[in-house]
Formats: sequence, C-alpha cells, structure tokens
Amino acid sequence: MKVIIDLDGTITANPDFFRLLIHLLSKNGVEVHILTARKPSRNKETNKEFEMLGLLALDDNPITAHSMSEHSSDWKKQMQWKIDEAIKIKPDIWIDNDFKMWDRIYQVDVKKALPKTTIIQI
Ligand SMILES: [Mg+2]
Repeated sequence: MKVIIDLDGTITANPDFFRLLIHLLSKNGVEVHILTARKPSRNKETNKEFEMLGLLALDDNPITAHSMSEHSSDWKKQMQWKIDEAIKIKPDIWIDNDFKMWDRIYQVDVKKALPKTTIIQI
C-alpha cells in the first residue's frame, strides 16, 4: 500500500498526529511519500523539519520525500506538479489540505486524475 501525505498545512497543521500516523503506517509496511511543492532552496529547512518530526528515522522502511525541483510560485503549476508526481506514485490514499481549493479555483477534480486513489481533504 502507498500513501501520499502533503507537508505544509497538512503535516505541519498537526505534527503529533502525523508523526504517529506515519510511524504506524511505515512500521506496517506501508510506503509513505511526503509530497511538497516547496523550493529546493528550502531543502535544509525541510530536512530539519523531517528530523524534528522523526520522519527520517525509520531505516527499515524509509519515507520518500518529493519536492519540486524546478520550483514555481504559481499555485496552478504547483498543483499540476503534485498531480503528475501522484500519478507516477500511484497512491492508494492521498492526504492534502488543498484539494477543495484546487477544485474551487481551477475546477480540477483530483479524483478524475487518480480514480483508484482515496482522496482525503483535511
Ligand atoms: Mg498543503
């Protein structure tokens, strides 16, 4: 099983809950992917946050972090990059705080791009 979890506004909104969830998932063999459209120039900061969250400590089932290598501040491009990454990962579950916003502003329904994925808006 594969799960994608967004970072900003998702994990950062409730780090204690997501630390627990990610540990439970990872310890039970679930592939956890953290997907963030943050700039690569923030990698140091992002890695520090992962460390603080204890997210890189699971050597037996490492968590994969995906960040936007050719960063754009355009929200629509960030959304498209995330959807393209998610299509490559083929997650069973994707948790993000922005699905409703994408639908409202860009009329993009992620369920159409990933019909087999359970989409969880937090
Ligand atoms: Mg977010």
